[in-house]
Amino acid sequence: MCGIVGYIGDKNSVPIIIEGLKRLEYRGYDSAGVGILENSHVNVVKKVGKVSILESEMTDRPINSTVGIGHTRWATHGAPTEENAHPHFNNDKTLCLIHNGIIENYSVLKKDLLKKGYEFYSETDTEVLVHLIDSFLKKGNGLLKSVRKALVEVEGTYGIAVISSLEPDKIIAARRGSPLVIGVGNNENFIASDVTALITHTSQVVYLDDNEVVEVYKDKFKAKNIKDEDIIKEVHEVTIALDEISKGGYPHFMLKEIMEQPESITNSMRGRLIQEDGISRLGGIRNQIDRIANSKRIIISACGTSWHAGLVGEYMLEQYTGIPVEVEYASEFRYRNPVINKDDTLIFISQSGETADTLAAMKEAKKKGALILGVCNVVGSSIARESDAGVYIHAGPEIGVASTKAFTSQLIVLALITLLIARRKNLSLVDGQNIIKELESIPGKVQRILELNKEIEKIAEDFVDAKNFLYLGRGYNFPVALEGALKLKEISYIHAEGYPAAEMKHGPIALIDENMPTVFLAPHDSVYDKIVSNIEEVKARKGKIIAIASENDNTIDNLADYSIKIPETIRMLMPVLNVIPLQLLSYHIAVKKGLDVDQPRNLAKSVTVE
Ligand code: GLU
Repeated sequence: MCGIVGYIGDKNSVPIIIEGLKRLEYRGYDSAGVGILENSHVNVVKKVGKVSILESEMTDRPINSTVGIGHTRWATHGAPTEENAHPHFNNDKTLCLIHNGIIENYSVLKKDLLKKGYEFYSETDTEVLVHLIDSFLKKGNGLLKSVRKALVEVEGTYGIAVISSLEPDKIIAARRGSPLVIGVGNNENFIASDVTALITHTSQVVYLDDNEVVEVYKDKFKAKNIKDEDIIKEVHEVTIALDEISKGGYPHFMLKEIMEQPESITNSMRGRLIQEDGISRLGGIRNQIDRIANSKRIIISACGTSWHAGLVGEYMLEQYTGIPVEVEYASEFRYRNPVINKDDTLIFISQSGETADTLAAMKEAKKKGALILGVCNVVGSSIARESDAGVYIHAGPEIGVASTKAFTSQLIVLALITLLIARRKNLSLVDGQNIIKELESIPGKVQRILELNKEIEKIAEDFVDAKNFLYLGRGYNFPVALEGALKLKEISYIHAEGYPAAEMKHGPIALIDENMPTVFLAPHDSVYDKIVSNIEEVKARKGKIIAIASENDNTIDNLADYSIKIPETIRMLMPVLNVIPLQLLSYHIAVKKGLDVDQPRNLAKSVTVE
């Protein structure tokens, strides 16, 4: 998920790798490391924290190495520690490897390797790969063949780079589901997970495809597929300007993170859907599933955007499992004397896993003996460590202060938890399979919504001067209305309120006039007619209406001033789709107001104070 850089040529590889890693910093990471070939040995230096910390460690000693690889890690398996940072060594330290992605069958492979006597020094999924390669080397295979054979046994995603003192004239690189490019230079070659890392050195690049393995020498490279067939790769000329490099070519992290949701949502589901059994696989809560399914009540607690995800979770869990659910603001929960019983399950949701109020609420609940689950993005974070069990959302690093991709991944994970419990209870196989089918279609549908970006940007132009906004939705879309309003407040500083649409009559309708825009979440569902009546009520009072509606809904165009048409899905997953146009709308309004969307005033990314 994070960064890979490699160099082979006549120059000192270290400064080139460090510079490349710095160019990848925009992706976010928790630790960094470099592996180099030096005097026929493989040397590895790793540090928790910024690349600059690694850099000062490396510049403190004279190094001249012409072959090396570097990595920025975003932990998925094992906390962000020095031991877990990459590169990882084989046991006799002749080989080191860096990896982006997730090895899904790592525990099976690890058991086997432990039996064979391999010693492990980290908690990562990655380390199995280096020992697996070693096991093929020990059978007399060359490096390329060993890497290829190891990869055949691997399930999951990877972009990898490997160097070895036994074959010091090459770097081996391979990919499946995690990007990797070769930069072709003059008597030197580069590898990187992203062209931005090598663009200052060469504009000639070769994009690897899935299941390809390459041997990169200083003056040539040879590509094969995993079946050992030779492949001819085309060299492309890239024309990305230097100032577009940071943030991956996007003007803001927030836009980058909105745009990468098809990928982050896929990552949240990867390896977790079992179509034939109509069930989800969530290793982190497997051992507790009976206790969860038998709990008398589920309480979800969180703050901000995660609290909105929790509200959607309430609808999902009650609809499919029949277990009563309550959703609590963590900040309120911790200071009253909440009634918590031993047969309750509590779910704490936090992107960072460090949110102070959520953490404190969790500690309070723990004292009362209930089962505590964590749903976090940051691996090894406090909430992840201190809960009894949990599920990572695997959205990748989120840097923009206003949460976008973490929210949609939280929704996906809550849907997976719901599916698992529901199948334990009384959801049929066919219904479970249908949910999985819908889940699998979500990334493609999100992509289609993102293609409306320009259209939404145009709508945003008309609302730059708005002072207030109202967001209305019903059922599953009520929490989406809250989230849409929060996004707008956070980054554009426009006052915005979210309400259940029917509540409008009980107060907010008094605010409606020609200066009050209202965003309606109006997909085709069981309450569509009711939402249409609410739209009529606003229209009658001259309010401006922006409707998020289903693709095939033509009647809405006569009612709304602006309509954004999006694909349909099952009710439970609608929030994942409906929130995307709202994220884009807030983003464009804020940008047009000239505001700093990535660092809005007064807000912090990880709220570690009360
Ligand atoms: N799954 C690996 C780990 O946790 C790689 C993470 C990454 O892509 O940075 O170490």
